[in-house]
Amino acid sequence: IQQQIARLRIVVLGAEGVGKSALTVRYLTRRYISEYRRAIDLLYRHTVCLDDVTSEVEILDVSTREHQENESVSVSHIRWGEGFVVVYSVNDATSFQEAAVILDHLQRLKAPLYVPVILLANKRDLDPGRQVSVEDGQALSLQHGCQFYEVSAAESHVGVTLAFQALLRETRSLQLTR
Ligand code: GDP
Ligand code: MG
Repeated sequence: IQQQIARLRIVVLGAEGVGKSALTVRYLTRRYISEYRRAIDLLYRHTVCLDDVTSEVEILDVSTREHQENESVSVSHIRWGEGFVVVYSVNDATSFQEAAVILDHLQRLKAPLYVPVILLANKRDLDPGRQVSVEDGQALSLQHGCQFYEVSAAESHVGVTLAFQALLRETRSLQLTR
């Protein structure tokens, strides 16, 4: 019996410099690449086996610099995506505000559908320079009913991998119900 392979389209969003590319590469390769600054959107494709189910995953690592008209998120990216990673950096309060705007935007554009989203607070290794508390992040995730993780792309792949896997599971199971 041929099993149908699920295809999952994931978009990584957030302010410039919060670590979207570092997180994406960390998840895909388990390696940390500290200088990965490219001003283009990158689409990665990989096949993943989770819970004995094979999925073909496409991850769009969005470059903030590419957007015109000061739009923080492009509508076409949101239309394309099925699951979203919204990233801010714990040492950058402005990026947290931007994450809140993105979450609003996402839910408005996808309404009335529920959107699988994980909110990622990155750079938790930079604790001395912290501007956003864990509680602030939790409160924002509660407000939007999304999952929340504090991670560090620099420190470890474990939290990053768990977070992406959680999103893939949620996106996949939602697909099955539609
Ligand atoms: P993007 O613009 O959101 O794609 O951000 P990048 O992935 O290009 O990362 C921006 C900068 O933050 C780079 O210099 C990275 O080395 C750094 N960075 C990314 N993740 C972390 C992290 O977890 N901890 C620290 N200390 N720096 C990070
Ligand atoms: Mg980038």
